[in-house]
Amino acid sequence: MKTKYLYINTIGCQMNVYDSDQISKSLLPLNYKATENLKKADLIIVNTCAIREKAEQKVFSFLGRLSGLKRKKPGLIIGVGGCVAQQEGKKILERVPYLDIVFGTHAIHRLPGIIERIELKKTRIVDIGMTDRIVEIESVSNLPENGKISAFVTIMQGCDNFCTYCVVPYVRGRETSRSPEKIVKEVEGLVNSGIREVTLLGQNVNSYGKKEGLCSFPELLALINEIDGILRIRFTTSHPKDLSDDLIMAFKDNEKLCRHIHLPVQSGSDRVLKRMKRKYTRALYLEKIDKLRNICPDISITSDFITGFPGETKADFKETLDLIKTVEYEGLFAFKYSDRPNAKATLFAQKISDQEKKERLKKLLDLQEIITRKKNQALVGSTQEILVEGFSKKMSSALPRAGKPKTNESLPDNIQWTGRTSTNKIVNFNLESSSVSCGEFFTGSIVNVKIEKAFSHSLWGKYLKLEPATLSLKGGESYAA
Ligand code: SAM
Ligand code: SF4
Repeated sequence: MKTKYLYINTIGCQMNVYDSDQISKSLLPLNYKATENLKKADLIIVNTCAIREKAEQKVFSFLGRLSGLKRKKPGLIIGVGGCVAQQEGKKILERVPYLDIVFGTHAIHRLPGIIERIELKKTRIVDIGMTDRIVEIESVSNLPENGKISAFVTIMQGCDNFCTYCVVPYVRGRETSRSPEKIVKEVEGLVNSGIREVTLLGQNVNSYGKKEGLCSFPELLALINEIDGILRIRFTTSHPKDLSDDLIMAFKDNEKLCRHIHLPVQSGSDRVLKRMKRKYTRALYLEKIDKLRNICPDISITSDFITGFPGETKADFKETLDLIKTVEYEGLFAFKYSDRPNAKATLFAQKISDQEKKERLKKLLDLQEIITRKKNQALVGSTQEILVEGFSKKMSSALPRAGKPKTNESLPDNIQWTGRTSTNKIVNFNLESSSVSCGEFFTGSIVNVKIEKAFSHSLWGKYLKLEPATLSLKGGESYAA
C-alpha cells in the first residue's frame, strides 16, 4: 500500500496532545505516516481547543492558510477534530468550503472509518456523536513511542463541575473514568516501548473512579508506582475542592510520584470564586497548600488564574495578587477571561473591558516572574536529579538525529542535554567530555546535575558523575560505568 502523509496541528492542552497521538496511531493501519511538512501531507488534521476565544480564532486562521494548498492538491483531505469541532459541528463545513471532515471529541476511534469512506468516495462528513469513546481508544494506545521517554495517559474524560466560565462539560461531555486495569495495561505497554515517565490526565483527577465505584485516585497512583520500569509519575489537573488528605499523603507514600502539583485556583477572591462556582474558599485553598507543604516540604506548586472575570473589582484582583505573594507559586498560567458558548458566565453582567483584563494579566505575570526567578535562583549550587529527555532543542537541530546516542558514538564535545527535575523544572546541561564518554549517558535515565545558572524558564547545570551503586538505585537504564 502506498505511504501517505499525515500532518496534525494540535491547538490546546495536554488532552489534545494525547488525542493527537491517538489519532496518528489509529491511522497507521491506513498507511498514514506523520510528517511535519504541510506541503507533503495527504491528510491534514487540526485538533482543536475551544477553552478560550483566542484558541478558537487560531483554528480558523490556520484553516484559512490551507485553501491554497487544497487548490494545488485536490486529493488533499482536511479534517477538524476536538472541542471546536464538537461545539460548532456542521457550521464549520459551511464556513470552510474546502473542509472534508468535522469529528468531535468522542469520534476519534471512528476516524479511520471516516477517512476510508472519504478516500473511496469524495464526500464531506460530520461526526460529533457522543458515544463512550474511552473503551474504544484502548486498541490504539500501545504502539511504539519513537524515542520519547514521557507520555500522557488519559485516565478520565469530561467533567461534571460546570464552573461558570468553562466550556469543557459541553464539549467533552460528562465525567467518565477508565478502569484501573486498562490504565495499568496501557502504562505497562508504554514502558515496553521505552517510556519512563507518565502524566495521568483528567479535568479533575481527584474525583477519578468515584462515579463508577472504581478504586480511588491515590489507589491508582499506588498501582502505577508498582510498575517496573516507570521512573516518574505526574498528574494533572487537580481540583482544589476535591484534593483529599489521601492524595496529599500519596506524595509521601509513592517514591515515583513527582514533587509537583498543578492546583488551579483561578482567583484569590471568595466573591469571585463563588461566582465561578469553584466550591472552595481562599482559606480552604491555603489550608490545602499548607498540608501539601507539611507532607512534602519542597513540593512545587503551580496554578491557573483568570483575569477580568465578569464583576471582578480592583479589590478582588488585589486579593488575587495577594494570594500569589502568599503561596509563592513556582509558576502559573494566566488567561484573560473570555465568554464561551453555553458557559453561564457568558450571561453575567459587569463585563470587564479588554484593556483592563490585559493590564491585570500583565500585573499578575510580572509579579509571578519575580517569584519564579527568585525560586530558580535559590536552586543555584544545589544538586538535582534530572530525568534525561534527550539533546536540548538547540543541539537537536545541529545534530543529524535526536534521541539516544549509541555507546562510544562520537558526538560534539559541547553537547547539551535536557531533562526535568521532579519538581518539573527544565534543566539544560552538559558533560565534561574528558571525564565522561557518551556511552555512559542515556536518554531516559535519572542523573545528578549541579545547577550553575538560573533563568526565568529553565536552569543550566553540569552533570555529576556518580558511583555505579547510586545509579542502579535509581532504576534507570544501564550505565556503562
Ligand atoms: N479542569 C481544570 C480546573 O478545574 O482547573 C482546568 C481546565 S481548563 C482546560 C484550563 C484553564 O483554562 C482553566 O484552569 C482556566 O484558568 C482557563 N479557562 C477556562 N475557561 C476559560 C475562559 N472562559 N476564559 C479564560 N480562561 C479560561
Ligand atoms: Fe472546566 Fe471547572 Fe471542569 Fe475544570 S473543573 S474542566 S474549569 S468545569
